[in-house]
Amino acid sequence: MTIPPGLVEGFTTLYGTPPTGVWSAPGRANLIGEHTDYNNGLVLPFAIDDRTWCAARVNGTGVVSVASTAQPTRHAVAIADLDQARFEGWSGYALGVAWALHASGHDLSRAPGVDILIDSTVPLGAGLSSSAALESAVAVTLNDLWELGLDRMALAKAGQLAENGAIGAPTGIMDQVASLFGQADHAVLLDCASLSTRAVPLSLERSGLALLVIDSTVKHAHADGGYASRREACEKGARAMGVPFLRDLTVADLAKAEAILDDETFRRVRHVVTENARVLDTVETLASSGPEAIGELLLASHASMRDDFEISVPEIDLAVETAMEAGAVGARLTGGGFGGSAVALLPATQVHNLTELVHAAASDRGFATPAVLIVTPSEGARRDQ
Ligand code: ADP
Ligand code: MG
Repeated sequence: MTIPPGLVEGFTTLYGTPPTGVWSAPGRANLIGEHTDYNNGLVLPFAIDDRTWCAARVNGTGVVSVASTAQPTRHAVAIADLDQARFEGWSGYALGVAWALHASGHDLSRAPGVDILIDSTVPLGAGLSSSAALESAVAVTLNDLWELGLDRMALAKAGQLAENGAIGAPTGIMDQVASLFGQADHAVLLDCASLSTRAVPLSLERSGLALLVIDSTVKHAHADGGYASRREACEKGARAMGVPFLRDLTVADLAKAEAILDDETFRRVRHVVTENARVLDTVETLASSGPEAIGELLLASHASMRDDFEISVPEIDLAVETAMEAGAVGARLTGGGFGGSAVALLPATQVHNLTELVHAAASDRGFATPAVLIVTPSEGARRDQ
């Protein structure tokens, strides 16, 4: 993906002088590892080709200004006032990163003001983490212009802190890590306990395979409550089993878990424990046999979310079933659940066919028309110009 036409000119028109650089960061999708992050477990996301760009320049005023082609309002904060800053609307995702860098102890007393214009091809609110793409793009921009010299994990933490502290969304660090650590044709294995990362080759092109995100476009009203109750069940299960996190259990502990937990809590625990094992299995299978061999693991992940964790919905189950009927290697719910998206791995030659079948199947059942996107595992945050 190249710099969107008009971004540099738009910056020049808005701020009266050309930018000194352009930086960008991608959205993400999760290949496998769902609801494992807050259990200190394993996730395997990848950066996608849709990106969020920042054209920027130091302005010498001590004020950080942000404007976005996706939003009508422009926002600014004085660096000296970051302590007391309150962020309106979308500005928490952008100016919130400056606040987060300050709040996590980085000395910004000599940091100059910066003007930023943002443009993006990541669809907003479609489960591809346009929020982390924005935070990560701003983080690499400020890191360079302020010469902070921070490593990528420190930038990911600043993005997460912006989302938690400036926006108030209780999200984990997976999205920012995928956006900052992604590599072309690779997924990122993240261990949420140690925060260690590893690039995992996907070899999709060599295998003639493609990844699709099928966005059901439905979001159920009880999604937030459902997420909270799943977290509580996991905490309850860990307490009863005498471990700090479900990550500390293995498949061998499930017999004991079944004996001492109520049926529902046991099934929540079984999802998390087996999902962590499936992430490791997926990494090993990719290395030994290539992406065409991970279909069973994707399907087992979906069945576990549907039957044990109970976070799927009929629209997503139908998308997964239809994808398999259309010749997919594997498919599963991706994201928090209660609506949202499925991810499917399929022969690149079947993309058109699958899209048509998914649309027709949804229409037959009276469901909303899903949005189908090809997602190409791509390079993480970078300076483009
Ligand atoms: P997702 O991260 O799944 O796309 P979120 O609700 O977490 O959905 O984040 C979407 C929000 O992030 C938008 O409503 C907007 O406030 C902000 N946002 C994302 N991209 C941009 C952008 N390019 N310009 C301005 N705000 C953006
Ligand atoms: Mg988000």
